[in-house]
Amino acid sequence: MTDTQTRHGAIYWLDDSGDDLTRRPALSGDQTVDVAILGGGFSGLWTAYFLLRANPDLSVAVIEREFCGYGASGRNGGWCSPRYPMLVDELEKHFGADAARATIRAQHAIVDEIGRIIAEEAIDAHFTPGGMLSIARTERQLVALKATYASYDRLGLADDTRMLSAGEANNLIAATGIKGGMKTDSGASIHPARLVRGLARAVERRGGHIYEGTAVTGVRPGQPALLETGGGVVTARRAVVLAGEAYLSGIAAYHRQLLPMSSMIVATAPLDAAMWAQIGWDGYESLSSGAYTKDYLTRTRDGRILFGSRGAPYLFGSQMPESALADPALYAPIIANLRSWFPVLRDVPITHAWGGYLGVPRDGMPSVHFDAATGLGNAFGYTGRGVATTALAGRALAGLIAGVPDHAPDLPMLHAPGPKWEVEPLRWAGVRYIQNAFARIDAADFRNGGVPFDAKLAKTLAPI
Ligand SMILES: Cc1cc2nc3c(=O)[nH]c(=O)nc-3n(C[C@H](O)[C@H](O)[C@H](O)COP(=O)(O)OP(=O)(O)OC[C@H]3O[C@@H](n4cnc5c(N)ncnc54)[C@H](O)[C@@H]3O)c2cc1C
Repeated sequence: MTDTQTRHGAIYWLDDSGDDLTRRPALSGDQTVDVAILGGGFSGLWTAYFLLRANPDLSVAVIEREFCGYGASGRNGGWCSPRYPMLVDELEKHFGADAARATIRAQHAIVDEIGRIIAEEAIDAHFTPGGMLSIARTERQLVALKATYASYDRLGLADDTRMLSAGEANNLIAATGIKGGMKTDSGASIHPARLVRGLARAVERRGGHIYEGTAVTGVRPGQPALLETGGGVVTARRAVVLAGEAYLSGIAAYHRQLLPMSSMIVATAPLDAAMWAQIGWDGYESLSSGAYTKDYLTRTRDGRILFGSRGAPYLFGSQMPESALADPALYAPIIANLRSWFPVLRDVPITHAWGGYLGVPRDGMPSVHFDAATGLGNAFGYTGRGVATTALAGRALAGLIAGVPDHAPDLPMLHAPGPKWEVEPLRWAGVRYIQNAFARIDAADFRNGGVPFDAKLAKTLAPI
């Protein structure tokens, strides 16, 4: 069917946020505060929240160019996941087994803490602790899933995880082509826009100030450090925090620090009870397959299926226009993929189709850092897995700034921003090559289980 009802570029979560998104007043005039934060997404707001919770006397200002939740935080798949941005094998390879274990345990614990804070702050963010369900839809994916399980098991991290036969997985979710699965009990799904908007209100209740519609145009390190904005200069006695993720690539000094990649999602209309009876998915797990082009799925509280996928082709010079995410042609293959998973959705309208930008660091590792000498702190680089990790990062950064060691345990993410991305046109050529190779790997795998000659090269070059 043709999807004439689809609103391309419309973000379901923001539509359903229970909030009219009226902008808070912009900054007008110079200000002096203790901590000035660039970015009203999860990273900036969690940092503000934990700072104010530990030290209610601090003055904290959040400067947001659009509105809180405008970026990836208001648009994502809603997975509050116990999986860390860097794969467990990679963590072990680069930082050792103990650091890998500590990181994954911290990530598990933060999911529970987010659930507690949502309850304490009475944020209606649809926190649903359904865990994670990964399914394999080809033999290659099954081999990869077993390898993932083996890595967790070897490190003693598989207590809450078990492999499922094809039949067991099918009993949980009636998708086509299931070869097997892996179920992890930890993890939740959340309504990201309700969480980010609720968190902003919690920051204000604790005395923080949020200025929306205010673009930071320059960052000046020093004692004190400053944020320059269209509405005035914000002087920060203790710290300036950079929490703009992918969008930081728009500020000259950070242009090559993070690569903006897009990810895209389509949402069905709410399904009726008969359809849900056919599909199952009673546990509301965060659902995925092992495709290189990523398939991530969420069941919403109002009975929709959200189907996410890796996004649009990378644009030369790290451009990230919204218009590049509203092209109907980009969504047609995602909708076709959704209907191949669930043929029963053939005639169900797709109401929303949207994308967003996430930040990919060159070394694949998030960076949480505060340098008292320059007054600059940062929390970014989650490579599409930031819903839970931003809380871990924001709490750690607040701990570093306010001197609360318990909040900043010794994890590998506590390091200065890593290596920069290559200059153009190398960056464009390399990223486009990897995007193209991943699509070819999936296509060959589905066609006949084949593997393109350059699959190994593409996997080696990719930072994630
Ligand atoms: C489509 C999509 C699906 C995803 N799905 C998941 C998922 O299911 N689970 C998961 O864990 N992660 C997911 N992610 C990643 C996750 O959403 C992000 O890692 C996380 O939201 C990052 O939060 P942030 O606050 O660091 O960045 P953002 O939410 O992007 O916030 C940055 C903010 O800074 C503001 N800003 C930028 N520049 C300036 C400036 N110069 N002046 C003032 N303000 C500025 C922006 O307007 C923005 O509001 C997904 C991402 C996308 C795009």
